[in-house]
Amino acid sequence: MIDTKTPNKQSMYDTVMSQFNKTADIIDLNPNIRKILGITNNEIIVHFPVKMDNGNVEVFTGYRVQHNNALGPYKGGLRYHDTVDIDAAKALAMWMTWKTSLAGLPFGGAKGGIKIDPRKFSDSELERITRRFTYALGENIGPEHDIPAPDVNTNPQTMAWIVDTYMSTISSSERSHNQHVVTGKPVGAGGLEGRDRATGFGVYLSIKLLLQTQGLALHNKTFIVQGYGNVGYWASHFLTKDGAKLIAVQDAHATLYNENGIDAEALSQHCEPRKGSIAGFEGAREIDAENFFGLDCDIVIPAALGNQITAENAYKIKATIIAEGANGPTDKDGEQILLENGKIIIPDIFCNSGGVIGSYFEWLQNRNGEMWQLEEVMEKIEKKITQNFHKIHSEVLKQQTDWRTAAFILAISRVETAYKQRGIFP
Ligand code: GLU
Repeated sequence: MIDTKTPNKQSMYDTVMSQFNKTADIIDLNPNIRKILGITNNEIIVHFPVKMDNGNVEVFTGYRVQHNNALGPYKGGLRYHDTVDIDAAKALAMWMTWKTSLAGLPFGGAKGGIKIDPRKFSDSELERITRRFTYALGENIGPEHDIPAPDVNTNPQTMAWIVDTYMSTISSSERSHNQHVVTGKPVGAGGLEGRDRATGFGVYLSIKLLLQTQGLALHNKTFIVQGYGNVGYWASHFLTKDGAKLIAVQDAHATLYNENGIDAEALSQHCEPRKGSIAGFEGAREIDAENFFGLDCDIVIPAALGNQITAENAYKIKATIIAEGANGPTDKDGEQILLENGKIIIPDIFCNSGGVIGSYFEWLQNRNGEMWQLEEVMEKIEKKITQNFHKIHSEVLKQQTDWRTAAFILAISRVETAYKQRGIFP
């Protein structure tokens, strides 16, 4: 089962800070810049009332943390989940800074969300919650300032409500050209063709490119996926299309296994009317949740929440590649065990960067008043991910280090250069 509650486990903030400090030591990061990057610029917490379907009012707590904007406007998703709190938002915002920097985008890093289980609310309640959250955030978001996007349990519909609320609360002369206040919108409301599959496509490409460096192909490789939301599904879609075999899937409700292969499309269709749950799917049998990570396979894709691979299960992993579709799925101890066991971790800040790369193209499309076609978008995403992959690979070889460390070196160095060139005001 996806672990949201284990007591005493490392927080995602601990994980990201240890990654940052390790890299800062390696690159001998300028001590003044280290002080700036080691802390988040702004931490916004809002409490806002919403009328429920039964007529009562509930007060919700929402977060937006803006870590750094040295490279451009803050960018990052909004998630709706019970695990959202200030520490999680800080960690995830910091990862976004490294992700956008590594991807070579003109963005900084932010993240936020609301501490709720969206499954407990009706669609009209979710709409009012989203709209009041947007209203409460006010000028803390904006198309040239901080640009949210979908994340865990949010989707194009959520983004459409945000854009509509944002547009309705700014002056009428500003309304027509501010669609890029959020990305990941539905295509009919200024969204980008292909943004829906961009993250999963990037996960697929990152695995394929890594295998290529080993002279291997995806054909007949087996993989398992934790989390069958947008990222888990689309990664499985592209991987199975390219000949790989999906043999197990886990979510918060069930763990499914079929050594002959699970049909990624049939599973997705099964989930749709069940609020995303894989439970009850007939094309696989249910197994014990604890056995998931230890299954015999070539590739593990954690595509759910943070801190899923820990000292408790990392030693069980038989796969040689861990492709981090989620943000922060491997904690510090889990990572050490995996590296000692010779595993390759394709780090989240690269592995799932297809999403924010797609977001960048959506932002450009809206900003320039253009309409791009699916094929053109997928080509652009592929080109960017491939270039970035080769940059990280060269760094891995140059530094003789693991993929996360190489990615962090590139990401942090780019921000350091920006500060060195700009200086510090005043
Ligand atoms: N939530 C996604 C992420 O963690 C996408 C962020 C974005 O597109 O701004 O990368």
